[in-house]
Amino acid sequence: MTVSCKTVLASKVSASFREQMKKDIKERNICPKLVGFLANDDPAAKKYAEWTAKTCAETGVAFELRKVDKQDLEEKITEANEEKEVNGIMVYYPVFGGKQDLYLQSCVSTLKDVEGLCHKFVYNVYHNVRYMDESETMKCIIPCTPLACVKILEFVGVYNTVLPYGNRLYGRTITVINRSEIVGRPLAAMLANDGAKVYSVDVNGIQVFTRGSGIKLTAHKVEDIDAKVEDVVPLSDVVITGVPTPKYKMPTTLLKEGVIAINFSSSANFEDDIKSKASIFVPSVGKVTVAMLERNLLRLHDYQNNLLEQ
Ligand code: NAD
Repeated sequence: MTVSCKTVLASKVSASFREQMKKDIKERNICPKLVGFLANDDPAAKKYAEWTAKTCAETGVAFELRKVDKQDLEEKITEANEEKEVNGIMVYYPVFGGKQDLYLQSCVSTLKDVEGLCHKFVYNVYHNVRYMDESETMKCIIPCTPLACVKILEFVGVYNTVLPYGNRLYGRTITVINRSEIVGRPLAAMLANDGAKVYSVDVNGIQVFTRGSGIKLTAHKVEDIDAKVEDVVPLSDVVITGVPTPKYKMPTTLLKEGVIAINFSSSANFEDDIKSKASIFVPSVGKVTVAMLERNLLRLHDYQNNLLEQ
């Protein structure tokens, strides 16, 4: 039996961004510096740090990993905020978990927040505010993993470029299985802000994010609905999963024929036979996330040096 599903690897999506950044950094003879703080023993965080180091070395970004005790992390972030040669700061989470990590995210200076996780940037995503300044010279920094998912959707053609910027997902129905504050909720908001109807699923239930009938609203609204995964997944053109356990599997039988299936969880959330139903399958997004981290870094480097877009 021939399988008509195309597997799209994150390395393929990230390649053009990495090449562009490498060229840009070389031609402009700059060396943006990123500092990563590792304050836990999480193997996933260590792996992410290794990837960051490798990708930065390839693109010409100076990356410094600072291993610190978690009790010293806030002070170390504050010091790095003041270091002129540091253009971007990131922290490998979880550190304490829960609200203390949310607090730490807001300790990073806005102009160095490559992950886009401080209150201002997340607020701007939720309110569909796309620029940091009134004259629209400084684009907002977007959280890296939601941004990586958007770039993957652009790459595979889910964004309809015939439509105007900001409306390019109009007519698409997308389910996101994860509503964390780091990935799932900002992702659902961004996709809905771009015109999609998004079913956002978490352990407690399902919400719909939309810009209303005829996408007349300027930013998305959210409604709780009394539905099950079995009701919304078969309606979805795209299904994005991010459930952090290998036990979770999205049943292939539920999926629409020709669905676009994207998994950002570190575990495989789709069943082994996913390619029998999907038209496009993206098994992981990590490499695109790191590329977005670098892209954000370059942007912040330019903002700090007043090299603004005109
Ligand atoms: P989290 O624990 O904060 O959130 C998990 C989300 O999944 C919650 O919204 C929860 O309600 C939902 N969920 C859990 N079980 C569910 C179920 N059975 N049905 C429906 N929803 C369910 O985790 P997180 O920080 O969002 O990370 C999720 C996964 O994504 C992890 O595996 C993490 O490693 C991965 N991740 C990957 C990247 C990347 O590739 N760049 C970045 C961040 C996180």
